[in-house]
Order: sequence, then structure tokens, then C-alpha cells
Amino acid sequence: MVNDAKYMEVFMSRIMPCEKCRLRESPKKGQRFILFGGTSQKYRVEVVESNLPIKRHGLTPHFVQAFGLNKAGDGVVVISNCCMEGCEVDIEWNSKSGIYDIDFKIVNAITLPIKDWEALVQRWHGSTGYEL
Ligand SMILES: [Zn+2]
Repeated sequence: MVNDAKYMEVFMSRIMPCEKCRLRESPKKGQRFILFGGTSQKYRVEVVESNLPIKRHGLTPHFVQAFGLNKAGDGVVVISNCCMEGCEVDIEWNSKSGIYDIDFKIVNAITLPIKDWEALVQRWHGSTGYEL
């Protein structure tokens, strides 16, 4: 893997498809999910406020993080997680610490073509605050 800084340490929230959520007709009203704030650089727990049309099922917030170029140098190795509670993340309120405990159950490693990765990043840099 080529450790080009441009493709490292980029961490963001993005809407991406999740087959598991599509099959369980998620997101649904009342479900919790996590966002990563671009401005605050912190996690934030949110609740789905209304039921979404069927065509939106399976389109969920994901954490996306880049780990550099692949060996061939034509793709970016990316870790992504669906951020819907009960899918790839567990969210528990911790009354002792006063913050949520967030536990990623699954981490997916994928390789995105460089142009697809750069399109994701551009949408991130062109936004402010919490990005979906
Ligand atoms: Zn999911």
C-alpha cells in the first residue's frame, strides 16, 4: 500500500447503500444513528424523525475512513461502517460517563476507484457542519 498523505486520515460521514438495512426497511422512524461532525470532529447520536419512502431504504449514514492507495495505485483502501443502530454499530447511553458508548460490530474494508473517492471527499469539503 502506498501511504500517500492525500489518501490517509480522511474521516467523514456519508450516505451510502447498506443491503442489510434495505432488507429490514431501515432507516425507520425512531431508530438511532451516528454522525461524525466535520466541524466538531466528534460523534453525534441522532434519531430518525420520520419514516422514509421505500426508495430511501438501505441508504444510510456511514463512517468512511481512508487508509491509503492500494498496491496497484489505482484505488483507495477505505474502511466503511453503516451507522444505523443495530446494523453495524451498537449505541448505549453510559450514565456513568454521561456520553454514549459506541461499538462498531463490523468493519468493512473496500477499495474505491480514485475518482470515486475524490468525489466523496469533494462533497465533504464543500459542506459545513454535520454532513450526510
Ligand atoms: Zn445498515
